[in-house]
Amino acid sequence: TKREDIRNIAIIAHVDHGKTTLVDELLKQSGVFRENQEVAERVMDSNDIERERGITILSKNTAVHYKDTKINIIDTPGHADFGGEVERVLKMVNGVVLVVDAFEGPMPQTKFVLMKALELNLPVIVCINKIDRPEARPDAVIDEVLELFMDLDASDEQLDCPFVYASAKAGYAILDLTEDPQNMLPLFETILDYIPAPEGDPDADTQVLISTIDYNEYVGRIGVGKVDNGSLKVNQEAVLVNAHEPDKRNKVKISKLYEFDGLNRVEVSEAGIGSIVAISGIADIHIGDTICSPDNPVAIPFQKISEPTIAMQFIVNDSPLAGLEGKFITSRHLRDRLFRELNTDVSLRVEETETTEAFKVSGRGELHLSVLIENMRREGYEFAVSKAEVIYHEDEKGKKLEPMELVYIDVPDEFSGSVIEKLGQRKGELRNMGTSNGGYTRLEFSIPSRGLIGYRGEFMTDTKGNGIMNTIFDDYGPYKGDIQYRKQGSLIAFETGESITYGLFNAQERGTLFIGPGEKVYSGMVVGQNGKADDIEVNVCRRKQLTNTRASGSDEALKLSPPKVMSLEQCLEFIDTDELLEITPNHLRIRKKILD
Ligand code: GDP
Repeated sequence: TKREDIRNIAIIAHVDHGKTTLVDELLKQSGVFRENQEVAERVMDSNDIERERGITILSKNTAVHYKDTKINIIDTPGHADFGGEVERVLKMVNGVVLVVDAFEGPMPQTKFVLMKALELNLPVIVCINKIDRPEARPDAVIDEVLELFMDLDASDEQLDCPFVYASAKAGYAILDLTEDPQNMLPLFETILDYIPAPEGDPDADTQVLISTIDYNEYVGRIGVGKVDNGSLKVNQEAVLVNAHEPDKRNKVKISKLYEFDGLNRVEVSEAGIGSIVAISGIADIHIGDTICSPDNPVAIPFQKISEPTIAMQFIVNDSPLAGLEGKFITSRHLRDRLFRELNTDVSLRVEETETTEAFKVSGRGELHLSVLIENMRREGYEFAVSKAEVIYHEDEKGKKLEPMELVYIDVPDEFSGSVIEKLGQRKGELRNMGTSNGGYTRLEFSIPSRGLIGYRGEFMTDTKGNGIMNTIFDDYGPYKGDIQYRKQGSLIAFETGESITYGLFNAQERGTLFIGPGEKVYSGMVVGQNGKADDIEVNVCRRKQLTNTRASGSDEALKLSPPKVMSLEQCLEFIDTDELLEITPNHLRIRKKILD
């Protein structure tokens, strides 16, 4: 049976192409177009505390009403490789809207998510947004989108997709550029016409596959998924089963059930097939669990959550330099924050280490961990991290296997040579080379994850910020042998309060470095490229009585990032007057110098 009153869609958009504006406009206008406002079983959200505190527990889903149809809009994660999240999210929908800026055209960053949508045979509506821009070039952008579709092996039906022109900002969509713009109605109509209604058997036993987990400190874990078969009712007895855990059979009772409405969730007493629901009150609910009727539990297959490939130590900063902004963090704070992250990020692992001051955090590639680090730093946590290490496996014969990634790069033509050279040194194998739009070269490599560690920053420098790099885990493969980096390094300087200390820092080892004479040890953190290509921004904080072993958490980590200490005399011969650009108590900017 089809649920004609529901459409489940995902929106794919490059950042700034107008997804938020578009969804806001759909929300706003759906109020006007909504015909059937009263839904009998709908009761108002009872947990007012959450709303008072401004916490949206389910920020990722929105629902709008058009005519008698409810359109569930699901946000897609930006990166395709954080443990299969994209696939799981896309499994809930029957089609996607690809939003593309009418001037910029399709951007490679959204390519992976689009590729996954095409692979799952989802129909795509292309929404060329910002057509009000004076420099808009909608026709050329349509050609670029079609080229991208062909590039990604879209099917004939997918290539025959509808195009809608829009100005989310001005609040209209049109199907033809000569049309008189009025409102968003043409987009609503296209969604209703072109995206199939969800299907399922309403009389069958209940099956709800949990696709994402949300977390809220008041209600705990919240499972979100689509009702595939049967229905879900409050007070219903059910069991949780899981396709990858044959022994799992947890009896549960559905106590709270929600659907989405606008930006809110509303409590409902029952949900039928095709409905996207949120369930709270089940502490032990996990991604991939199927909620089933107790008498006939059949788990719905889902793509297994991918294993971490890379690990880093997160180390407590026990004594931030005076004036250093950010929380004073204790090991318990860091621990709580990291373990809390596990509630929503299933491809992350956090482990205790021998010391209470360091935690081993493993994830899907360096980018995955850097997103977490960045989020935590924005929240005000100050901590050090070790260099990333890859997680090796062994095959049956005991042969060492290492994670391999595919790298897709778009760079202005003039930089392709240096990218090829650098990745070659890092054991990258060039698989494909072609031209992409407007003076850009597209390169595809297969490379050990190890070879990519620390490369992103260099890549941005080498391409003057104009390169685009996407990576995706490929598979474990035979160890590719040691990587011989060319000897290169940066001169850095630290103000220690009494004097300035200089040190040599290997540019490849983005992460913590330890420096300082004698007992006084200072650690610095390369936190990012600072605008101009050659500047590196360093955050410095002092660690009291730090020994190298404790700093790194383990001997293993120490081997990977040995302390780099040089005396001032040793350093002086390398120092040019313009080396040190700026220095404040907790910040310094230096000019990178390559020493061959
Ligand atoms: P998101 O990052 O994809 O969610 O993009 P936003 O919705 O935040 O939009 C990014 C910027 O583009 C904002 O400054 C918007 O005001 C602007 N914008 C969005 N839609 C349009 C449009 O149709 N026309 C124009 N001219 N600007 C738009």
